[in-house]
Amino acid sequence: MVRYHFKCRDVGYSCSYELDQGQLKDMMPSIKIHMKYAHQIWEMTKDLEDKINSAITKTEEKQ
Ligand SMILES: [Zn+2]
Repeated sequence: MVRYHFKCRDVGYSCSYELDQGQLKDMMPSIKIHMKYAHQIWEMTKDLEDKINSAITKTEEKQ
């Protein structure tokens, strides 16, 4: 079982938001919503998206 994690502070915000999902494709939509409502970022730049993608970590859990 694979889990993906994102911590908002890893992209430079002093923010306690953390996200944990089973699928990578579910990460970015949730992060985009968080960026809108918590940080007033309505359109993410390519630069920020790249930062977010590199801040996403993956762990594999044995069943
Ligand atoms: Zn945040």
